[in-house]
Amino acid sequence: MDHVNALPFLLDNLIGRVAAGVDVYGSAETVEALRRHIFNGVIWPDFTVLPKPDQAVLRLHAVSPGEPFPVGPYMVEAVAVNHSVPTLAYLIEGPDGTVAFSGDTGPTENLWHRLSQIKNLRAIFLETSFPTSHAELAGRTRHLCVEDVGRELAKIGHSLGLPVYLYHLKPEYQDVIKREVDHLAAWKIRLAVPGETIKITAPA
Ligand SMILES: [Zn+2]
Repeated sequence: MDHVNALPFLLDNLIGRVAAGVDVYGSAETVEALRRHIFNGVIWPDFTVLPKPDQAVLRLHAVSPGEPFPVGPYMVEAVAVNHSVPTLAYLIEGPDGTVAFSGDTGPTENLWHRLSQIKNLRAIFLETSFPTSHAELAGRTRHLCVEDVGRELAKIGHSLGLPVYLYHLKPEYQDVIKREVDHLAAWKIRLAVPGETIKITAPA
């Protein structure tokens, strides 16, 4: 719900106003969940056939790991990560390099293995749901705590200079996460701020 809650209202605001519609990409499981549990004609209208089936405001696309797909000027690759439901990280490659978004995940090998192969990696956005004091809860819900972040980043040790943006902080723990992150000083880590625009460019 924290990843799709804006979608019904976004589409509601766009329907009839934009000709192009919106493309939404996800795993087959996620796409099926959206169809079955949200845009099902009960909770919310089926926007995949509205305002007309051939001009739908919502186009759902199921994607698979290892099968890169184009989105506008970018190539996007999905990587399966470790969460309580099937979840994907996304690697987005543009002319200036590649940016990685972890998705919701607990400790994972897949993502770091794939990232270690990417020569033009420019930044990592990594979920950090809990402070280290809640490591047990993080483990049980397959999220990362701050201590995990250090362990995860060590799996691609060559990228110490790489900017790492932490996101997906549980709001009630933001301040304590912020304090704990200061101790991971070996990395260029900062918290992504909602509403902030971050420009990722190739090194000069
Ligand atoms: Zn989440």
